[in-house]
Amino acid sequence: MNSDFVDLLNGYGVDADGLRTRYDNERDARERPDAVRQFVKVDAEFSHYVDDPYAEPLDRMPIEDQDTDAVVIGAGFGGLLAAGRLRQAGLQRIRLVERGGDVGGTWYWNRYPGVQCDIDSYVYLPLLEETGYLPTLKYAYGQEIFTHARRIAQHFGLYPDALFQTGVTDLQWQDDKARWLVETDRGDRIEARHVVVANGALSRAKLPGIPGIESFQGHTFHTSRWDYAYTGGDQNGNLDRLSDKRVGIIGTGATSIQVVPHLAESAREVYVFQRTPSVVGPRNNRPTDPVWAVSLQPGWQRERMENFTDVVYGVRDDVDLVSDSWTELNKAITGTAATRAERRLGRTLSADERKLAIEFSDLRAGNALRDRIETLVEDPATAERLKAWYYLYCKRPCFHDGYLPAFNRPNVTLVQTAGTGVDRLTERGVVVGDREYQLDCLIFASGFEVATSFVSQTGFDPVGIDGVRLSDHWVKGPRTLHGMQASGFPNLFFMGIVQNSSTLNFTHMLAEQAGHIADVVARSVRRRQPVTVTAESEQAWLDEMLAFAGDAEVQRWLRCTPSYLNGDGDVENAFGFLARRYAGGPQRFFRLLEQWRTAEHPEGLVYL
Ligand code: NDP
Repeated sequence: MNSDFVDLLNGYGVDADGLRTRYDNERDARERPDAVRQFVKVDAEFSHYVDDPYAEPLDRMPIEDQDTDAVVIGAGFGGLLAAGRLRQAGLQRIRLVERGGDVGGTWYWNRYPGVQCDIDSYVYLPLLEETGYLPTLKYAYGQEIFTHARRIAQHFGLYPDALFQTGVTDLQWQDDKARWLVETDRGDRIEARHVVVANGALSRAKLPGIPGIESFQGHTFHTSRWDYAYTGGDQNGNLDRLSDKRVGIIGTGATSIQVVPHLAESAREVYVFQRTPSVVGPRNNRPTDPVWAVSLQPGWQRERMENFTDVVYGVRDDVDLVSDSWTELNKAITGTAATRAERRLGRTLSADERKLAIEFSDLRAGNALRDRIETLVEDPATAERLKAWYYLYCKRPCFHDGYLPAFNRPNVTLVQTAGTGVDRLTERGVVVGDREYQLDCLIFASGFEVATSFVSQTGFDPVGIDGVRLSDHWVKGPRTLHGMQASGFPNLFFMGIVQNSSTLNFTHMLAEQAGHIADVVARSVRRRQPVTVTAESEQAWLDEMLAFAGDAEVQRWLRCTPSYLNGDGDVENAFGFLARRYAGGPQRFFRLLEQWRTAEHPEGLVYL
């Protein structure tokens, strides 16, 4: 190694070997062979966990509809963006089909106290310029985001044909009619030319497979179905009915980080059961600056969105329009860290040197975040337990100003479980080690299904040309072109994380996908022919993903502590969040899509 580079690494001031060993040990303690199978599917005796607490019971007659232009399954931001773009492409009859009682998706379901989007609201809330809305805060709360989803649905006139509290059960391609037959759990039969599946990447609540989970006799619910009738209060907190209650919460991910401060304020006793700590950086929320608001010029949101994606993926650091904890953190742990090292040394780094520069920068940022805990949490033992020992993107980093100080309250106890989690539940509470924590209420902040199959996450199995089921076509994992179309499934489009390049700002990816899908649909409408992709193009796309999966990136994920990002430790899981995705980063992926669309004959696209 060149001496200038050795000096540079020394300048980071990290004990790299010590941290690597610690990270490895902490990961090993958490790895378990059942990976994603450790969770319990929320159906059968657990289905009450996903009952809708917000909607009035609905009784309606089934719908027979032979002439729908498009059915969009899911009315979260993905479905709304797709439906909006299809409307702009000239489609008239667009039906949203949605399990919830309204649009909003994740923002319909997640109404827990403190619910907030931790991404800059001016890049996260879609279509701000088109709808003429500007969020009130840099980080908007759930209610405001939900209202914005409703605003988008109204803007595009999507309510009249929407079917709420309705789940798709079957999807069958009818060759003779060149339409999909969409059937639902309310007996609807809708024939649609095009179908977009926008069911959401994190939409199926999951429960940890803890022995005895069914035996707990106290009150219990999942964070995505918050029971205000039991807790009192609302999304702003003030959970007054908990004042005499002992409340436990399992999980310390992004949701729990937002919930715990409110439990701490309201409940008599709070027990936070932690398996792996989250990284928690500063939030610094603030109201929208009116002077800035009037200075905005047309096109500002796209510019800001693209700039954010560029900065957090290490493409540039010269201009940082969002300039927050996300962008600062990402500058430390992406290619930007290596680029900055190159600037300091005045030379280009080799590939290995770049990797080391990024790793050391990540370790240094981790040390700073761990040190920060000591300044905020008074009890040294609790502070120690709150420290995360993994590379910063092994889990989704979190940002909150109230979470860490909540542990200074006398009514809040952090219970550290062994690496594999809570030992068991009893009728009375939670057992960790040799102690039973007796509880009146146990809240599951245990996240959502990821890396299970398409059928598990959507509840239906599309049947394409010649009666081929998608589950058979994808038996060894998804096969798509660009993650959005599958060969033999004409006029069917997928939105989400599979086989494309997801973005930290999720709605950026959804907006690009929506535009792409609308473009392909418009071609099919113009030619009056269904459209699909060739098996060859699908294979070529898969090969590109697989080449990447065999690469250094996967090695990095192998070294990570388990999380939903790496298939809970099973990095080979073909349905995994980050498995089999486009390697070049989101902006290159979006440009690739754009080039594909502008070609006279987009490669792999075929009309039937
Ligand atoms: P997560 O999957 O992130 O967290 C689940 C938690 O449950 C983890 O802490 C996990 O521990 C814990 N857990 C699972 N099984 C056990 C067990 N047997 N014993 C003890 N603990 C257990 O779910 P969240 O709902 O917190 O977040 C999901 C995602 O939703 C986020 O990553 C984010 O993408 C999104 N979100 C975004 C927000 C935003 O502001 N934009 C806010 C909230 C959520 P372990 O870590 O060890 O697996």
